[in-house]
Amino acid sequence: MKNLLKNLFLIKVLIILIKLTGLTLAWISVIKQGVEPIKPLFIVGAVFMFGSIIFQMIFLRCPHCNKELSSIGRLGDYCPHCGGRLDGEE
Ligand SMILES: [Zn+2]
Repeated sequence: MKNLLKNLFLIKVLIILIKLTGLTLAWISVIKQGVEPIKPLFIVGAVFMFGSIIFQMIFLRCPHCNKELSSIGRLGDYCPHCGGRLDGEE
């Protein structure tokens, strides 16, 4: 299971990308079209951000204790909850 850390890393990168995309879309919507009334582009952006949170809750988990890992900051070599190695090696 050498690829596990890589996978968790990829998942994290994906979450950040989705979140940034949503943030950018919502931001463009507010800048170009204003806040009121709420525009479809803003909703799409919000859905992206919401989706990234769901994605994170489902996939960004420790393989040992199954607890959620933080999406903020660097993904460490060890789980902050149980201390298990995140690259899958005991
Ligand atoms: Zn753990």
